[in-house]
Amino acid sequence: MYNLGLINGKVYRNGQFTHLDVYVQDQIIAKIVPSGKILPCKKIVDCTNKLILPGFIDPHVHINLDLGEFKSSDDYESASKAAAFGGITTFIDFLEPISYVHEFDAMLKKKQKEAKASYIDYAFHTAVGNFNDDVDKLIKISRESGIPSVKMFTTYSESNRKITYTKFQEFLKNSCKTNTLILVHAENDEEILSANVEDTVESYESSRPAVSEIEEIEKIARIVAELKGTLYIVHVTCGSSIELLNDKYKELLGKNIFIESCPQYFHFTKDVYDNENGNLFLLAPPLRSIKEQEKLKENISVIDTIGTDHCPFTKEEKMRYKEASKIPKGLGSLEFSFSLMYHIFGNEIIDKFTLNPAKIHNLFPKKGIIQIGSDADFVIFDPKKVLFINSGHSQSDYNPYESMLTTGMVESTILRGEILVKNRKLVGSMRGQFIKRH
Ligand SMILES: [Zn+2]
Repeated sequence: MYNLGLINGKVYRNGQFTHLDVYVQDQIIAKIVPSGKILPCKKIVDCTNKLILPGFIDPHVHINLDLGEFKSSDDYESASKAAAFGGITTFIDFLEPISYVHEFDAMLKKKQKEAKASYIDYAFHTAVGNFNDDVDKLIKISRESGIPSVKMFTTYSESNRKITYTKFQEFLKNSCKTNTLILVHAENDEEILSANVEDTVESYESSRPAVSEIEEIEKIARIVAELKGTLYIVHVTCGSSIELLNDKYKELLGKNIFIESCPQYFHFTKDVYDNENGNLFLLAPPLRSIKEQEKLKENISVIDTIGTDHCPFTKEEKMRYKEASKIPKGLGSLEFSFSLMYHIFGNEIIDKFTLNPAKIHNLFPKKGIIQIGSDADFVIFDPKKVLFINSGHSQSDYNPYESMLTTGMVESTILRGEILVKNRKLVGSMRGQFIKRH
C-alpha cells in the first residue's frame, strides 16, 4: 500500500512529458507506471490535464538579511510559505559573510536556528567578505557541515566585502581538488568606484553600469580558463556578459563556469528608475537597458539556473531616502518566479528550476528529478490557467510584479510525499529539513 499516488498527469522526465502514475512511499518516489490501473494507495490525487514537475529549487535567496539599519522583510516562515505557493520545495540561503574561519560555526548555528520555521527543505552557501584566513581550512569545515559552496564578491570594497584576486585564485585552486562550487557576485569594483554620477535613483544604473559586470566576468573567466575549478556566476544581468562567455569561453561553460540569472532582469528594465516609485526597484546589480534584456532572452539556452535573489524590503524602507546609496537593495520574487519565467519561455525553463540547480548545487539525485529513489517533491502545474499576480505571502507590503498576468499556474506543491499547498491553499506544516550537500 502506497502513501500517495499522483495519477493521470503528464509527468516531466528527461525533457519530455509522458502519461504516468507516480506512487510515493516513506517520502520517496517508489513506483512509476503508465497511467491506467490504480495501485493500492492511501491517498490519490487526480492530475488530469496537469503537468507533474519535480519540486523547484531556488539556489539563491536571502532570508533575515541584516543590513544594520534595515533587515529584509522575510523570515523563514514567510519566505518558505511564499516559496511553497510558487512550487519551490528547496531553497539555498547564505550564511552571513565571514572574514575568518573561526566565525563559521556561529554563522551556521544562527541560520539553523532561524530555519526551524521552514515549510520547505533548505540548504546554505558559506559566504566570505574580505576573507583573510586559510582557504583550505574554511572549505574543509564548510564541506563537513554539508555546504560544498562558498560565495564571494569582487565588489563592495567600501563595505569591506571584496575578495582579493589572490584569495579568489586560492579558492579556485581548492575547487579543482575538492569540487567546491565558487559563487561569485561579479561587478568590477574600480569601475564602480570611478563612476562619477549623482547619488540618485535615476542615475543608479550608471553608477554600476553594464560594462562593470561584463568586464569583471571576462576577468574572472580568464582566471578560470587558466586555473580551472568550478565557478558559478550569480545574478547575471546582461545578455552581453553571456554572449562574451559563449563566444570566448564556450569550452568552459557547463563544466567550469555556470550561469545564473533572475526573473527581475527579464521583466523590468532600468527605465523604471525614472518613475516616481523607482526606489522600489532598486537592487544590485541594477536593472539594465531593454537591449541587454533582449539579449538576455536570446541567450536563455546558455543560462543554467534561475535563482530569485529574493531579498524584499517594505515600501517605507525603500522610499525612506532619496540617495540611491542609502536605499536597501533587493526585490522579492520567490512566490512567482516560475510562473513569471514559464510565461516567457514555456517548457524550456523547467530544467533551470529543477535538474540543473540540483546537479550544480549537489542536490542530485535526491532533488530535481522524478525517478525512483528520489525525494517525493512535486509541483502540480496547470499550463493553461491564467495567474493574476497578487500581493502574495511575503511579509513585504509590496510585490513588484503585482497585477501582472501569467499563463501557467502552480496549483499544488508536495514536499517529501506530503501535500504542502493544495489548490492554492496552505495545508502542510513546517517540516522543512536541512539538506546536507556533498
Ligand atoms: Zn544575492
